[in-house]
Amino acid sequence: MKEGFQTTKLIFEEKKASILFLWLFNLMYYSFDIFYYWIRPKINKQVSIFDTDEVGLGVWLYILIFCMLPIAIYFIKKGNPYVVKYIYIIGYISIDMVDSLMTYLGSTASFGSGNIVEVLFLLFCPIFVNKNYFWVVSLGMIGKEILLGVILQDLNVLVPTVIYIILSLIAYILLIRFHSYIQTLTTVYEELRQKEKLAVVGQMAAAIGHEIRNPLSSLRGFTQLQQERYPNTNEYYPIMIQEIDRINTIVNDLMYIGKPRVIKFEKASIEEVVAYTLSITQQQAERQGVTVETIMAGPLPPIECDEKQLKQVFINLIKNAIEAMPEGGRIEIRVQVIEKQKMVVSIQDEGSGIKDENILNLGEPFFTTKADGTGLGLMVTNQIIKDHNGELNIDSKINKGTRVIVSLPILQIVK
Ligand code: ADP
Ligand code: MG
Repeated sequence: MKEGFQTTKLIFEEKKASILFLWLFNLMYYSFDIFYYWIRPKINKQVSIFDTDEVGLGVWLYILIFCMLPIAIYFIKKGNPYVVKYIYIIGYISIDMVDSLMTYLGSTASFGSGNIVEVLFLLFCPIFVNKNYFWVVSLGMIGKEILLGVILQDLNVLVPTVIYIILSLIAYILLIRFHSYIQTLTTVYEELRQKEKLAVVGQMAAAIGHEIRNPLSSLRGFTQLQQERYPNTNEYYPIMIQEIDRINTIVNDLMYIGKPRVIKFEKASIEEVVAYTLSITQQQAERQGVTVETIMAGPLPPIECDEKQLKQVFINLIKNAIEAMPEGGRIEIRVQVIEKQKMVVSIQDEGSGIKDENILNLGEPFFTTKADGTGLGLMVTNQIIKDHNGELNIDSKINKGTRVIVSLPILQIVK
């Protein structure tokens, strides 16, 4: 329904442009010809062509041009104003061609054709904000002049041709400006909408998350108690606890959406953070036949960070790497200091890679290609890295693997 409403608005815009065009065209066309062929000769005491034997299409020219009007109105009324501009440009060029050929072919009179509306066509074509239409108009107009020049063997077409080329250039620049302006407006609007959506979803997620967390922790506590009390009765307890923990992670991730976090910066050892992460993900890696190699380049200084959150970052990234290799493979984690002030951790896998069309969606909440994914991991990761004034870069080749590069400042500058 919403889409229908939007298309109606667009059609309405096109309708406005078409009606404006119809008014301008008809006013200019007839007044120009009346002035040029009737009033001007009178003033100059020449014979008006209206008084001489008719040449060209004669009065049929005006009848044909006028006939386009009811057709255009019909299409506007039918809700298809988009064709009006094409009817006019194609109709005008055809009628004018025939008229010019009938007038000048076989005649000795030197070529002089055109109407001020040709300038209108060219200069006003940006109001339709349509590149195809621009090309039809400019190539049509210029082509018409050149064709007439060739057929009539008359160099008089040179002047209008040059003028039309210049006008086309101007129209093109205007059109491009319109386009880029509209595009920017759309992106700004889109970003705003996205932010608003996130704010609403974020508040909701935080509220729900908050409500779920407390019952969840008592559920976990009692399950654990039960397991300790009856160690031999139920083999499902560990699975229950594991699943509760999984819900807990998802809830925690949810609470991250669109919500800035308070972070506590403390000095921590990156080696320890990575080692902890590996111990958490080890089981999953082994199950899938994934080996992990860690390369620490030289002695690494402690890094100012929120250790708990940084662990979350690497858990998410390594999990993604493992999940990208269901048939097993190798992960290489490389940690190094760059320019003495940046800690750079790269995680390279040999997995499925990321399709080009998906790259832009990475980090958007709920974007996932996995059947049981949440699409929250990268969003949280990105947010935490941003909070640390760091940078996340992803470089991926389909079926070759993915390299995720996290770069963090070693010292946080207090703002
Ligand atoms: P989830 O893991 O729940 O799907 P994420 O936010 O962690 O959510 O990841 C989003 C998507 O990004 C994944 O579904 C996957 O398509 C893609 N992706 C992330 N990391 C990798 C990787 N290392 N290799 C291939 N695809 C990846
Ligand atoms: Mg993930």
